[in-house]
Amino acid sequence: MTDAAPGPVAQYTVAVRALCEFTAKAGDLDLRFTPSPTAQEGIAGHGVVTSRRDDDYQREIALTGDFGPLHVRGRADGYDPKRNQLEEIKTFRGELERMPGNHRALHWAQLKVYGHLLCAARGLPSLRLALVYYDIGSQKETHLVEEHGAAALQAYFEEQCGRFLAWAEAELAHRAARDEQLQALRFPHADFRPGQRELAEAMYKASTRSCALLAQAPTGIGKSIGSLFPMLKAAAAHGHDKIFFLAAKTSGRRMALDAVENIKEGAPLLPLRTLELAARNTACEHPDKSCHGDSCPLAKGFYDRLPAARAAAVQQPMLDRAGVRAVALAHDVCPYYLQSELVRWADVIVGDYNYYFDVTAMLYSLTVMNDWRIAILADEAHNMVSRARKMYSAELEHGGLRLLRKTAPAAIKKALDRVHRQWSALEKEQMAEHGGEYRAYEALPEKLVNALQTAATEIGDYMAENPAWFDAEVLDFYFSVLHFARLAENFGEHSVFDVTISTGGKNHGGGTRADSVLCLRNIVPAPFLQPRFAAARTTALFSATLSPWNYYSDTLGMPADTAWVDVASPFQAAQLTVHIAGHISTRYQHRDRSLAPIAQLMGEQYGRQPGNYLAFFSSFDYLDKAADLFQREHPHVTVWRQPRRMGEAEREAFLARFTETGQGIGFAVLGGAFGEGIDLPGARLIGAFIATLGLPQLNPVNERIRERMQAIFGAGYDYTYLYPGLQKVVQAAGRVIRTTSDTGTVHLIDDRFARPEIRALLPAWWHVPAQR
Ligand code: SF4
Repeated sequence: MTDAAPGPVAQYTVAVRALCEFTAKAGDLDLRFTPSPTAQEGIAGHGVVTSRRDDDYQREIALTGDFGPLHVRGRADGYDPKRNQLEEIKTFRGELERMPGNHRALHWAQLKVYGHLLCAARGLPSLRLALVYYDIGSQKETHLVEEHGAAALQAYFEEQCGRFLAWAEAELAHRAARDEQLQALRFPHADFRPGQRELAEAMYKASTRSCALLAQAPTGIGKSIGSLFPMLKAAAAHGHDKIFFLAAKTSGRRMALDAVENIKEGAPLLPLRTLELAARNTACEHPDKSCHGDSCPLAKGFYDRLPAARAAAVQQPMLDRAGVRAVALAHDVCPYYLQSELVRWADVIVGDYNYYFDVTAMLYSLTVMNDWRIAILADEAHNMVSRARKMYSAELEHGGLRLLRKTAPAAIKKALDRVHRQWSALEKEQMAEHGGEYRAYEALPEKLVNALQTAATEIGDYMAENPAWFDAEVLDFYFSVLHFARLAENFGEHSVFDVTISTGGKNHGGGTRADSVLCLRNIVPAPFLQPRFAAARTTALFSATLSPWNYYSDTLGMPADTAWVDVASPFQAAQLTVHIAGHISTRYQHRDRSLAPIAQLMGEQYGRQPGNYLAFFSSFDYLDKAADLFQREHPHVTVWRQPRRMGEAEREAFLARFTETGQGIGFAVLGGAFGEGIDLPGARLIGAFIATLGLPQLNPVNERIRERMQAIFGAGYDYTYLYPGLQKVVQAAGRVIRTTSDTGTVHLIDDRFARPEIRALLPAWWHVPAQR
């Protein structure tokens, strides 16, 4: 949207919808009226309406118009030349009368602007404007029609543009000042750290080539600054509107915000707006209320107070969670929805992956709608495969539905009963024919999916008709079913549908009752992520562990021209002593036998060099057995264990024991809270014992994934077990050496670590001797 085109007069491009949202939105924030539950339903609804029109009906008409430096563009839904009627189609559910007046006003504003653009483009003296509301449930259209002269439409267009002009001019000035400062921006430190320059250059080159980048860059080189700095320089040189810095964890987002502060300390005149995105449950000020003016005071009159809040917010250079909250509360608006508005005006946006990559991701849809030129930085990108799989998977529990049927309103109950019947039939058939607890299906069970879709529709209609009604459990179920239905519409080779049955429950007659979980399980997120990569001008995924790159590139669906850089480690082989305990097997069947030699090995290492160590195991059970034996055999060594259930306080307490002067061994589970993302430099951690290859458990689900990975990529075992496992091992071992002055020891405990194909996956800078 903030499109400063080259040329003598800077031009500001704005989409019709964005223009009208700025100028014509007033009144309460109100999320009760759902236009259409899924995007597909919306698109299908448009398709139904336009297919009902004559052959000469013109669809998706691209229109543009100028007003001073404003360049307004958009696509009108359809024009019927016989009736000289321009149509704006909106899909909805429930009763049209319940649509809030400010929604309707916004629709008219868009249609009138399109009306002017069409009159101007075709020299029409007047035009019929029709708002076409299409009810997805009844498939009926309601037309609201007005006739307007070209002069009146032009006046309306100019009025809207006039209201936006001052803001747009300020944005142009901001953009010019921002880019001028960015061009002159200097690296905030005297010099780059080793490896940091290489990373920064790769980032800048990827932006120059407008391609994606996979960057493996070791810990300790300053990846946050090493990625943000070149992308900020590139923003000015390559015309990026925004940079999205996306991370898997809060700590990654904090580091990005700190990096921005750091860069700005060296550039006090840089007018860079940085926004942190917080989840709704952390940003909401009234968790006991609903997001509409009748319930929440911060939703009441939200759009009336938004202009002042927005104007104040853009004066704040750092809009982290606390910053957004302060502005929001000063203007009595909701902080969560204020942050959504500020996305439009921020230069750097820091948030979780899901804001761009999720099914209904806000940053992605705004990027597409506004045609933003964006650069994406995805930190700790080794998490992307598992995170994206979760985003594109859906689970439904039969137990939850059973409870819901008891409390749901009568109007919904019938639909839930239908789902229950179909679900039970599927369970019965699975039990009878396959006798097994787990079954993966080639195709979706059509009747059950239809029943779920109908239930979602009926819950949606009920909510639309009873806006005051609220039931958290029904609502949860509704959103889960909607998500399931969305994914069901896109079911394909990238996912499996499976049902896991447990037979623990009792039915009313006292017999055994089957309970089950339906899962639409995404295995390869690539088809879902590809459009997201395509919408970005450049995307850089970086992490200390992205090897082998083809695993990430294939499963994530990176574009064919993606560049790859493996930044050399700043660490020397002499800093890390690596041992392979080839005389021990940690395979499941050998675990009991492995405990004594592991305890001995750890005791010997600790005896040689007392200090702080982390010991990683594949499960809590294994961890407990190993810790029990170790404590018995080495009672003088302090030991602490990762608890099975752990809140933030327990996590902090576990880490707090790793002090500069402390000594002892922390027992943890590989792939858990302490296997990555923790920083214990110097004497806080001098060694690690890794008693597992980290391979995911052999079970029916993983075996199904392996089969699918084999069929798609010809690398079933490697893509399912080996690469994800070794990635965790390398991450965990990476806790030991954090700076160029650290030294330490890693014991890789399992005979398989000696195999050449496993050694090839260990970091190149390690010196891995022949097995002990
Ligand atoms: S404060 Fe909470 S309840 Fe109120 S509008 Fe914001 S998110 Fe909704």
